[in-house]
Amino acid sequence: MITRGTTLLNPSTFSGLATGQRAVHLRLIETTDLHLHILPYDYYADRPWTGVGLAQAARLVEQARSEAANALLFDNGDFLQGTPMGDFVAHERGLREGDVHPAIAAMNALDYDAITVGNHEFNYGLDFLMKALGGAAFPVVSANLMTRRGAAARADAMLLKPYVLLDRMLVDDLGARHPIRIGVIGFAPPQVTEWDSHALDGRLQARDILESARAWVPEMREAGADLIVALAHTGIGAARHQDGMENAAVPLARVAGIDALLTGHSHLLFPSPVFGGMADVDIATGTIAGKPAVMGGCWGAHVGLIDFLLLREGGVWRVLGTRSEVRALGETAPRAETPSSPARRVAEAVAAVHTDTLRAIRRPVGQSDAALHSYFTHLGVLDSLHIVAEAQRDYVRRRIDDPDLVGLPILSAVAPFKAGGRGGPAGYTDVPAGPLALRHIADLYPFPNSIAALCVTGAEVLEWLERSAAAFNRIRPGSTGTLLRNPEVPGYNFEVIDPLDVVYDLSQPARYDTGGVLVDPEAHRVVSARLAGQPLDPEARFILCTNSYRAGGAGQFAGARTTNIVLSDERVTRDILRQHVASAGILGAVRAPAPGGSLRFAALPGTTVIFETGPAAHRHLAQIARFRPVSRGLTRAGFLRLKLDLSRGV
Ligand code: MN
Ligand code: MG
Repeated sequence: MITRGTTLLNPSTFSGLATGQRAVHLRLIETTDLHLHILPYDYYADRPWTGVGLAQAARLVEQARSEAANALLFDNGDFLQGTPMGDFVAHERGLREGDVHPAIAAMNALDYDAITVGNHEFNYGLDFLMKALGGAAFPVVSANLMTRRGAAARADAMLLKPYVLLDRMLVDDLGARHPIRIGVIGFAPPQVTEWDSHALDGRLQARDILESARAWVPEMREAGADLIVALAHTGIGAARHQDGMENAAVPLARVAGIDALLTGHSHLLFPSPVFGGMADVDIATGTIAGKPAVMGGCWGAHVGLIDFLLLREGGVWRVLGTRSEVRALGETAPRAETPSSPARRVAEAVAAVHTDTLRAIRRPVGQSDAALHSYFTHLGVLDSLHIVAEAQRDYVRRRIDDPDLVGLPILSAVAPFKAGGRGGPAGYTDVPAGPLALRHIADLYPFPNSIAALCVTGAEVLEWLERSAAAFNRIRPGSTGTLLRNPEVPGYNFEVIDPLDVVYDLSQPARYDTGGVLVDPEAHRVVSARLAGQPLDPEARFILCTNSYRAGGAGQFAGARTTNIVLSDERVTRDILRQHVASAGILGAVRAPAPGGSLRFAALPGTTVIFETGPAAHRHLAQIARFRPVSRGLTRAGFLRLKLDLSRGV
């Protein structure tokens, strides 16, 4: 019987194992979508961040290895980009002769058996990637990416080896050794050539994942592969194959000859209930189309495992049973590291570049002439949003090249992510005037959302604004003491559309409820919405910049649906903002927001309201002088209560 890990894989639970037969426990260990999270450090906030990072995940790897007599470690791609460390190495320090990229150095330290590339490996261009991979002490495979297409898949000029055959000796439960040839093949979403076309100059081509699998897997079998593992940087999606599909794990699992799938790309966990009820996907057995599969989350917060119970008879390997599992970092208690521990080895491999990255993120990336804060965003003080809106708009303008869309007015939806509420009285964006460092960029855009753009009608933009207006309570004219903000609407669902000049009438009922459901079709709070002085034409089309969550429907904003998405390239908005700020010159001033873009309330004579905000807002009261603010002290939770006069309005 298996001497170690018996609680995990008990041969007696599998049929077909006769007394005296020697079972072999083979474990595949997956990391995926590390996005250069190596050390547990948040470079945006400039503080430690437990719960992520390969140095921490190394403990899970070590544990998983110790439980199995035979284990192989793979990475499934998207390791090169995703933290400021990646940008520092790519854009500032570069890879000189003999330099090993920190992602590769970290994987070398953990003795990976093979890896594949994801889509983000191409963010910095082909030359940088190939230089980085040059430092790898393990094979790198990809079967559907090529530098030149041939007449058929096997005639392509491949970017990397399509597959590798690993000859290993596996130890059985009685200690005897058996040879096995494990084939490892890799796949990436073919969209990579479009997503990173700006960095690739047409030097990379891609084929459909299934087409490539069908071309190469039989060759691997002919070459003697006993077991074939697919490193599939692709998500678990539709069961039906469509040419060029991005998330192809289910059709891929059906390819004859593939024995196990390590999946990724969508940063989710498999097996987990997220994938319940999908065709050909079984979350109870951890299989897709009957093949064992796993998806180990992202950022080193999880590690995926596939266990095989194998039997070798007459020189032929037979699979007796499999299981899949995802393990989370949070479940392992930190412990003292010995000098030779994997966690220590990983940390040491990136120690120097970590120090250099810290120095880089603490350097100013720009300068702001004014304080940028969110204390009064709901009152129309929009400076902290304008800068984000402008960065989004500039980026999207450069990326839209569809002739049908070029020239449409580009609007930019932005929300005060940090605006009190559950974030507490300190949970506001508060960037002082002066030099801007990376942590200030993170204060302006705290979430790692990706950019997206929609094509919407003016009518949908107006509905978007009505949905946003649910952030305010209805104010009865002449009343006093009503709380202005509806506490049930978090900051991220209060969207400002830049550079529109919008006037809300808060005496009207809200058209949408706090969850985004249309509750009063007769109600309208938008009195006017103008673009450069002209009323918004409901029939006209607009490009609307937003983030991938919103574009996918989060918060139920009108027009936010996948069929309207015209740009979604996974670029993180925070990085776009940083580059936007830096493009003004290292110490240049952030450009003043373009004129226009305002939020006002229609006058409600004799009406006052209560507005709660962070106590540090008192330094900026002059910005809302037209509301004649009067302090009413602090709430028990510590918010500053202001009495505001709505008599003047627009
Ligand atoms: Mn990824
Ligand atoms: Mg990916």
